[in-house]
Amino acid sequence: MTPVTDDKLLGALGRALHDQRLHMLYQPKVRLRDGSLASVEALMRWDDPDLGTVEPSRFIPIAEEHGLIDELTHWGLRTILRQWLDWCEEGIDTAIAFNISALSLQHLDFPDLVERMCRGLEVPTDRLVLELTEGATQPLVKLMDTLTRFRIKGIGLAIDDFGTGYSSLMQLRQLPFTELKVDQAFVADVARSRDSRLIIQAIADLAHGLGLSATAEGIETLEQLRTISELGCDVGQGYLISAPM
Ligand code: C2E
Ligand code: MG
Ligand code: MG
Repeated sequence: MTPVTDDKLLGALGRALHDQRLHMLYQPKVRLRDGSLASVEALMRWDDPDLGTVEPSRFIPIAEEHGLIDELTHWGLRTILRQWLDWCEEGIDTAIAFNISALSLQHLDFPDLVERMCRGLEVPTDRLVLELTEGATQPLVKLMDTLTRFRIKGIGLAIDDFGTGYSSLMQLRQLPFTELKVDQAFVADVARSRDSRLIIQAIADLAHGLGLSATAEGIETLEQLRTISELGCDVGQGYLISAPM
């Protein structure tokens, strides 16, 4: 099969948005101390009739590059807020985490928009957590004003994939995060690698010292679960607990 070009994907993504062929899956994040539900993370999915399932790691960067990301973000936010209402009616009151591209944060009025969306649907803002990842061209420190506005409104902020890529200690000190998510790469070899264990423990201590909760994602085995609990992480997420559903 010939590889699908970015152009073709972009066109198909625009149509998928229009024809409502995107959906969200939700993955639980549980408190390690007692196994209770801390929150759920929303993960976007695109099932295309011609292209099959397209991974977010493939289509999000294309949406970012070609000006479609804001539309995706707005669709995602509307979807998860409505889902929260449905759960609430069923008696499930959980915080919901949503991944946000740093590009969407470049609009200073974005926090107001999110607040209006929450208020319009009567979803309390403190039930929403935004997960952010830093990229090479989008340092989060530059977004200080926007991030502070979210916190003033009571919206939680998590730094995702911490410890690899571009995330730095500087941001943790300067930015108003509420949660730190240890990158899956450390969790993946926590059983084999003493270095990874040391790093996770140091990251958890650092998070606590700064008043943040520490989440480990990508937990696939009981041994990983046990070890990351011992190393001081507060919240766990991964296929062992539940796949996105
Ligand atoms: P992320 O936010 O770090 O999400 C974690 C990824 O790990 C998800 O991949 C999830 O399905 C996967 N995962 C969960 N548990 C396990 C496990 O035990 N083992 C392994 N190996 N993987 C696990 P997914 O859903 O393909 O998403 C990939 C990335 O795409 C996300 O990374 C996030 O950065 C981005 N993304 C997903 N949904 C959205 C969205 O709605 N908006 C934006 N802007 N980005 C999104
Ligand atoms: Mg995430
Ligand atoms: Mg992550």
